[in-house]
Amino acid sequence: MMNNTVAIAVDGPSGAGKSSLSKRCAQAFGFMYVDTGAIYRTVGLAALRRGIDRKDSEKISGLLPELSIELKYNEAGEQRMLLNGEDVSDEIRKPEVSICASDVSSLPVVRAFLMDMQRSLALRYNVIMDGRDIGTVVLPNADLKIFLTASAEARAQRRWKELQQKGIESDYLSVLTDIRYRDEQDSSRAAAPLRKAEDAVELDTTELDFEESFAAMSQLIIEKLCISPAVEEA
Ligand code: C5P
Repeated sequence: MMNNTVAIAVDGPSGAGKSSLSKRCAQAFGFMYVDTGAIYRTVGLAALRRGIDRKDSEKISGLLPELSIELKYNEAGEQRMLLNGEDVSDEIRKPEVSICASDVSSLPVVRAFLMDMQRSLALRYNVIMDGRDIGTVVLPNADLKIFLTASAEARAQRRWKELQQKGIESDYLSVLTDIRYRDEQDSSRAAAPLRKAEDAVELDTTELDFEESFAAMSQLIIEKLCISPAVEEA
């Protein structure tokens, strides 16, 4: 297939900083940022609202044809998720939806349903796409693959601070428990488990702050793709 677009795949466990770093790099290098976790979260939310058992493949596959899932970008360039026309971008961030997303995402029927949507974006645009199986399954020919990691404790600390800043009540230990639940489920599932692609570069951000992580990721992009950050408008 002829394809002149450039794709950067960013995978890794929950809370490793994939979205914030990918978003920032997309801005800096002029790529479109695609958050695939948001797409799985939208399916998870739909299942939660219907009260369906999220691990029941038959019930979930009955639900899928009724779902219209759209990904839009607002004027600020932020990705918004529409579920049957309703903007659910804020609702999908709730902690209970994270668990639902992880549950439905272990079903092959859900992964197959969302595959075309993800691939067709990469065919049309230069993308930085983040998720769990982007480098291994969705975009195996991506021009650069980055596997972002950090210790579970560091990831839970960051998530907990983020929730606090948003004014969402939570305690550190339950955030750590959620992270461990998702790590275990995302890595052990049979369908597209979370794992580092053989040709991915691993970036461990445990000891790095955001700016240091951004600098390290930018360096990988500059070296591998031989491109420079786009000049920012005055
Ligand atoms: O990235 P985020 O934490 O928003 O993703 C929510 C859940 O969706 C993850 O825990 C994971 O189970 C699932 N997911 C996935 N494959 C992707 C992106 C997300 O299975 N490409």
